[in-house]
Amino acid sequence: MEIRFEENETECTAGLKKASEGSFVLEDAVLLEFKINGKVAGKIKTPSEGVVTFARGLKPGAVLIKGQVIATISECKHEIVIKDMCGTCGKDLREKGGRAGQRKEQSTANVSMIHHVPELIVSDSLAQQIGSADETNLVSNRKLVLLVDLDQTIIHTSDKPMSEDSEKVSSV
Ligand SMILES: [Zn+2]
Repeated sequence: MEIRFEENETECTAGLKKASEGSFVLEDAVLLEFKINGKVAGKIKTPSEGVVTFARGLKPGAVLIKGQVIATISECKHEIVIKDMCGTCGKDLREKGGRAGQRKEQSTANVSMIHHVPELIVSDSLAQQIGSADETNLVSNRKLVLLVDLDQTIIHTSDKPMSEDSEKVSSV
């Protein structure tokens, strides 16, 4: 569902966003404030609950024209799930009285992201986004990641400074 700017006033500009991109909002939640002559003149609300995706280029100060799409509200795809509960909308996806993994609603989440927290799963597309953000971060910092696989135990090394000075510890 598209949320459009419906005010008849001219010279309106966007104020602060009142919801985060990709977050789940309830019915009647405020999405955006708008300003006239630099003063907050009103709020744009959502008529239904869902996940918010703001229109591109919508920044504070941007001129708003009547009919312009402000944001899109879509159904939650349950992209982050922990123990059969959606991390975005908070819905319990498990069948009543069901066991772990028995879901009453479909979820796109199926990739486990943290080695020792297998019950936290995210969708393919979100896993790829997180992975490519990590890669971009490493490339921009000119760092490499070393993965050491010791008898099924994976040790992740990072560019974070070590708590102990390695030169003083002879075993390192
Ligand atoms: Zn959800």
